[in-house]
Amino acid sequence: MADVTLTEVRKSFGSTDVIRGVSLDIKHGEFVVFVGPSGCGKSTLLRAISGLEEISSGELRIGGQLMNHVDPSKRGIAMVFQSYALYPHMTVRENMGFALKHAGEPKAQVAEKVERAAAILGLQPLMDRKPKALSGGQRQRVAIGRAIVRDPEVFLFDEPLSNLDAELRVHMRIEVARLHRELGSTIIYVTHDQVEAMTLADKIVVLRAGVVEQVGAPLELYDNPANTFVAGFIGSPR
Ligand code: ADP
Ligand code: MG
Repeated sequence: MADVTLTEVRKSFGSTDVIRGVSLDIKHGEFVVFVGPSGCGKSTLLRAISGLEEISSGELRIGGQLMNHVDPSKRGIAMVFQSYALYPHMTVRENMGFALKHAGEPKAQVAEKVERAAAILGLQPLMDRKPKALSGGQRQRVAIGRAIVRDPEVFLFDEPLSNLDAELRVHMRIEVARLHRELGSTIIYVTHDQVEAMTLADKIVVLRAGVVEQVGAPLELYDNPANTFVAGFIGSPR
């Protein structure tokens, strides 16, 4: 079970304290959304969970295992970024299979996992295209597909839909919710979009300047904000 537990996690860059004592208890299968103003440390916290950044102090556990110094590839997580970072010279199929192939998985097994992910995301008709022949939403689905094929226990999403236009964002939001239902995996998701947070989250974590202001179900925060900062963030659509 991939519970994700943070205990007094801190992260500094030089003398700048970016994450300042964050403790969180994320249960297996939960959809947790991080919100907070630009620069409050959302991406840094995700990167710390993924292992792209080493934490300065505190404890990070995934499935009970201490992860502080574990290589990103061995944490059972997959991260999807705002910028799709697809390989331009590879087809959709090759993009999705690349990491598995690189890890030495047998060809037939890679093909099977890629096909399964393609089916979940409705990408089958696009498998032989290159990224430049895809729309923004299609590219983002390929990026999610690359994460799915790795069959992670935990998905980390950093503002995955923020480059899409409003209509596509709504569509993709529904896709992400469906994905969570189908895969049952733990999802930690950063967004600027209040509607995304309110509709996707089992639990919202409100961050301010590297500190957790409040954690709760969307309606708990909406009805009972701990302070005006949380109220401003959750209560005012933008
Ligand atoms: P958010 O994702 O909430 O907008 P970030 O986690 O990207 O915020 O950044 C939080 C703060 O940490 C910012 O002030 C940013 O400048 C700083 N920061 C992030 N990464 C680095 C880094 N590698 N070196 C120095 N400062 C960084
Ligand atoms: Mg960010």
